[in-house]
Amino acid sequence: MTTLDDLPIRDDLRGLSPYGAPHLHLPVELNVNENTHPIPEDVARDIIESIARELMTVNRYPDREFSDLRDSLAAYLNADSSAPGLTRENIWAANGSNEVLQHILQAFGGPGRTVLGFPPTYSMHSIIAASTGTEWVAGTRDAEFQISPATAVDWIERTKPDIVFFCAPNNPTGTALGLDTIAAAYDATDGIVVVDEAYAEFMPDGDPTALSLLEGRPRLLVSRTMSKAFAFAGARLGYLAADPAVIDAMRLVRLPYHLSALTQAAAVAALAHAPEMLAMVDDIKHQRDRMVEVLTELGYTPWPSAANFVLFGGVSDPEGLWQQLLDRGIIIRNLSIPGHLRVSAGTAAETTAFLDAMRELTPMVAPGGASDDPR
Ligand SMILES: *Cc1c(COP(=O)(O)O)cnc(C)c1O
Repeated sequence: MTTLDDLPIRDDLRGLSPYGAPHLHLPVELNVNENTHPIPEDVARDIIESIARELMTVNRYPDREFSDLRDSLAAYLNADSSAPGLTRENIWAANGSNEVLQHILQAFGGPGRTVLGFPPTYSMHSIIAASTGTEWVAGTRDAEFQISPATAVDWIERTKPDIVFFCAPNNPTGTALGLDTIAAAYDATDGIVVVDEAYAEFMPDGDPTALSLLEGRPRLLVSRTMSKAFAFAGARLGYLAADPAVIDAMRLVRLPYHLSALTQAAAVAALAHAPEMLAMVDDIKHQRDRMVEVLTELGYTPWPSAANFVLFGGVSDPEGLWQQLLDRGIIIRNLSIPGHLRVSAGTAAETTAFLDAMRELTPMVAPGGASDDPR
């Protein structure tokens, strides 16, 4: 049998592993941070009508500049009161923010260039670095997964990266990132600074995002996605807000017509219903907080999360617990962080199912630490 090793594959890809979240269909799927609520039916009908209209002209290539979609995305971001007045000139989009990140590395990374990231963070950042031939430089975090301005600047001065990747809030830890760290990192480099804000909509109400830093910082790029809060993961739509010159750079590396007419139509229709699409966000944040509360009661150590998931420590056998949950029809995520697992906030019922299973699977510990008090 032929294996990868037998092929004349690029030397720098030998021995690498692909993105590997297990894709299993189970009654309770809390493993990849999707919005687990289906989209409202009236919105779905509207999206279907838009797609149907677009189908009538699908013999033609789509709008290569996806101008309507960029207008819709700019309008959506401008609803954030801390954001500057963005126009279509500031917006890029692709098939998921993963493709946006790939475009960024194609344009600004590549062989002989480096990207600095701060693990534990989103695994795709280093995977896309590898696939574009960009060297991944792993920085370190402070206590409790924080990154202070001093820590970021220190890593930038020591390693002189071409690109700096932040993830805010950070996946898989849920940690928020101070705007002071992003601003300090920007001032410390002549390179590109990317803030992956896939979970921005789950941040505490009123907290400003990196969008508020864009004005006057042409090397700052803020990426977003419709895959998480917006309940649109299957449609594949990610986007970027940045200086118009950065958008021009993206045009150099994208494939022509990379966003299908159907994708564009679906996303524009969904964005026209933004408040309905985001209606469940407050409930999801509530379910996340329930998870933190109950996991703490059970003796685990959940980390504070500004996203729609919770990373919790104090797990003596992550692989074993992951499997026992799976046996009960519940899938969460084992990221190979020692003693930790990550779970996405689900609907109220899914969250209850997870927490009930955790109660069942966790040996009772009485106050003071004695186990299994029989009372
Ligand atoms: C889920 C996630 C994404 C989203 O990727 P898409 O390609 O838009 O689905 C991007 N960044 C982070 C940190 C994520 O967790």
